Amino acid sequence: MANTDTPMDVLVIGTGPGGLAIASALGQENLNVAVLSANDPSEPWPYTYGIWGEEVDELGFENLLNHRWSKTVSYLGEGAKENISPKNNATLHNRDYGLFDKKKLQEHWINKCNQASVQWYRGKATKLEVNEFNSIVETSSGKKIISKLIIDASGYDPVFLNVPNNGEVAVQTCYGIVAEFSRPPIEENQFVLMDYRSNHLSEREKKEPPTFLYAMDMGNGKYFLEETSLGLAPPVDIKTLKSRLYSRLKNKNIEVLNIDNEENGVYLPMNLPIPDLNQPILGFGGSAGMVHPASGYLVGGLLRRAPSLAKEIALAIKEKSNSPSEIAKRGWENLWPKELRRKQALYQFGLEKLMRFKEVQLREFFISFFSLSNEQWYRFLTNTLTTNELVNAMWTMFKKAPLKVKWGLMEMKGREINLLWNFIKPNV
Ligand SMILES: Cc1cc2nc3c(=O)[nH]c(=O)nc-3n(C[C@H](O)[C@H](O)[C@H](O)COP(=O)(O)OP(=O)(O)OC[C@H]3O[C@@H](n4cnc5c(N)ncnc54)[C@H](O)[C@@H]3O)c2cc1C
Repeated sequence: MANTDTPMDVLVIGTGPGGLAIASALGQENLNVAVLSANDPSEPWPYTYGIWGEEVDELGFENLLNHRWSKTVSYLGEGAKENISPKNNATLHNRDYGLFDKKKLQEHWINKCNQASVQWYRGKATKLEVNEFNSIVETSSGKKIISKLIIDASGYDPVFLNVPNNGEVAVQTCYGIVAEFSRPPIEENQFVLMDYRSNHLSEREKKEPPTFLYAMDMGNGKYFLEETSLGLAPPVDIKTLKSRLYSRLKNKNIEVLNIDNEENGVYLPMNLPIPDLNQPILGFGGSAGMVHPASGYLVGGLLRRAPSLAKEIALAIKEKSNSPSEIAKRGWENLWPKELRRKQALYQFGLEKLMRFKEVQLREFFISFFSLSNEQWYRFLTNTLTTNELVNAMWTMFKKAPLKVKWGLMEMKGREINLLWNFIKPNV
């Protein structure tokens, strides 16, 4: 075939966190790996990636953080009873939280790829052909790359992966700034996971979908403040988020002085379906539905899961008689085993409930959530509970919740019955 190079073992499409995480792990397995991306792999990523301290420590990547906070709190009204600080009604999380140094994380993966002689291709993938022996990807400029397996890591709207349509996607939206302010908008050295206090809102606004502040002291007199809405369909628009951030500040007589960086319009799909697990290509990252439906986080999961998936792919590729679809099948079984699919259904079931909650209900829900044991809520948010432990955590939270939250949790609407059914009997 014209315009091709030597056939590869794996071609990864995309150089976001998903693409680089899996390409570098595959490189460690001594496979011939190529990466194709529409952009330069070292182009700066647009988002800020956060992670819990213990999670990053367990993974051994604490050196890739550029900020770490021990004073981690939320403001949920009354505060979770056991953890409440009498001083200011803050719910104390008693856990570290960190922000990745995006550049370092990216370089870490790129260096690992280079050490493993990963081949870099630049271009937009447009066509895919998979036969019994190989897969062929063609770019918009006509270049063809032959590989045994394709991993589509092209983000939330994947170029080739077949993802079922399960109805409206819940989207988390955010408006954020890194800036200097006339006085500190949060306490020194503090990280605020969620500030749901709403005394700056009018009675009309309180009836609209709730939003919260995610905020951190970045040092040198700078703070990152982000007005955020949990996953919703339709999402809260960015104009509303911006105006709420400014009225929150105005209510405290705080002025924005210099803006260093603005995240103006962030859309994060929270409940993307699990892709079709019978297709002859694989996905990784946002494309493969790996975003945690409760937190929107992905990077911890990528770091945790890439090595085992890469090992499984290497084993499958070493069996020379395996076709691309047999290799992909082994990969999907590793990526989405039954236990994870059941948990995903349960998380998505929970998200459906939260999408319907009004402001007071939502705050009371989170108060009950953070009344779980510290270990339980942390492992809930990092998706490291077993299915039984997850059910147990949800049941404990239900028992602790006040009546109006219990009632909201019991009401069955929309696709909730289907999601419960997926929990009992996950689709293949
Ligand atoms: C605002 C925001 C904040 C977030 N915060 C966090 C956080 O704090 N912690 C966390 O863990 N996660 C967070 N996430 C979630 C997640 O980590 C990111 O969304 C992440 O960027 C998804 O990675 P990805 O590699 O799957 O896709 P992307 O980062 O979207 O990368 C896709 C890649 O595919 C390439 N591509 C696309 N189409 C083609 C094509 N046709 N041909 C070739 N290449 C193509 C693109 O050029 C790009 O390189 C956040 C997400 C958002 C939106």
